[in-house]
Amino acid sequence: MSRSRPPTTDDGPPKTLLICPDCGHESHLDGDWQTHLEPTVEGTVRVSICPVCDGEIARRPA
Ligand SMILES: [Zn+2]
Repeated sequence: MSRSRPPTTDDGPPKTLLICPDCGHESHLDGDWQTHLEPTVEGTVRVSICPVCDGEIARRPA
């Protein structure tokens, strides 16, 4: 399949790629990371867990 547009043009906004610092597992932000909500004194946060090594990848406000 050939496109008339240059290959550098994406079909949509770039996805955020997360990489596990412990085992190097790569997946997009909406990939196969296991997430759970965790209440903190500053409010509930969404914690992303690596499905390979169970390491914590990131935590964001829920
Ligand atoms: Zn990992």
